[in-house]
Amino acid sequence: MHTDYHRHEASTTMSNPFTTSHSPFIIAGPCSIESEAQFTSVTRRLAAIAEVDMIRCGIWKPRTRPGGFQGMGVDAFPVIDSAVRRLADEGLTHLPPFCCEVATPMHVEQCLRHGIGTVWIGARTTGNPFMVDELANALRGTALAVMVKNPSSPDIKLWLGAVERLRAAGVESLAAVHRGFAQYGERTYRNAPLWELPIEFKRSCPDIPLFCDPSHITGRRDLVRHIAQTALDLHFDGLMVEVHPEPTQALTDPDQQLSPALFAQMLDQLKRRSHDENPDGLTLLRSRIDSVDGELLRLLAQRMDLARDIAAVKRQHNMAVFQPQRWNAVLSSKLEQARHLGLDEEFVKALFEKIHSESIRLQQGEI
Ligand code: PEP
Ligand code: MN
Repeated sequence: MHTDYHRHEASTTMSNPFTTSHSPFIIAGPCSIESEAQFTSVTRRLAAIAEVDMIRCGIWKPRTRPGGFQGMGVDAFPVIDSAVRRLADEGLTHLPPFCCEVATPMHVEQCLRHGIGTVWIGARTTGNPFMVDELANALRGTALAVMVKNPSSPDIKLWLGAVERLRAAGVESLAAVHRGFAQYGERTYRNAPLWELPIEFKRSCPDIPLFCDPSHITGRRDLVRHIAQTALDLHFDGLMVEVHPEPTQALTDPDQQLSPALFAQMLDQLKRRSHDENPDGLTLLRSRIDSVDGELLRLLAQRMDLARDIAAVKRQHNMAVFQPQRWNAVLSSKLEQARHLGLDEEFVKALFEKIHSESIRLQQGEI
């Protein structure tokens, strides 16, 4: 007989499971459900941590290459039920709700049937608009809450597009998860964080909670805390972290999962940032920043006007727009000045390259 101890309110009402009185929202749990012993053990440990709002548990695993463990599939549901019953017998009757990845309409149907109230769409699926459409159709009219991971490629439109498709299907409880972007070659992180993308996502969708998955970004246990801290420093609303009772024995992602003890230690060490928008002194400093930014733009406009005048002279003398010697001289003098002003040289170089290429673009229009 099916039990529904783990049925979260969201599966029967429209309440948004991502709203909490505290911040950040914490999701933790194993990459995959592997066995009753494993799932019971990790759930017991996580339920004892007050800050844990939701437990993640992979049921269907998208594996990059065939042959590995693909998750327990529907066999995971009786495992969840037994774990929940066993923990209830131990007195743990209030477990955080569970969430898992869905990649096909069948997965959605199974989650609904087994009382999983929150699901997420994985990176490989977000990148495929056909699949997102199919999932959106399967989710239409259900009360499931949905998290949308960023697509593997650094394409913000695909990420936003998936959210739009779900919204159009009437999904009301939505969150986004930043899990980094695929890259080729030598690298520190399994998936490049490219923080500017989640920042742009937040700018476009300020009402959708944005979580960070430091486990899939780093691919390495020892870097998870660092990325989690960066996310909190950047005003993310929550974290999704992989936690396994014996990480090195895990059937999937053994290098990045944290033990419950390491995870608890990380939560203790993370510095929470205030979400107060206007603490003392900030308004004044911001208005000064605004006026400096205004000045920068006026100066840039002046510089571009001069570039147009220069284009007229070059045209008269039939000169090429790009003059390498002059550019070298400009760049080295700016870098020298940057050093004196204590500005980062890489930053100043990148800035002037942008300004110079805009100047060339304008001059090409004039010549
Ligand atoms: C996962 O969270 O287990 C997972 C497969 O993530 P992603 O879709 O980010 O690769
Ligand atoms: Mn994983």
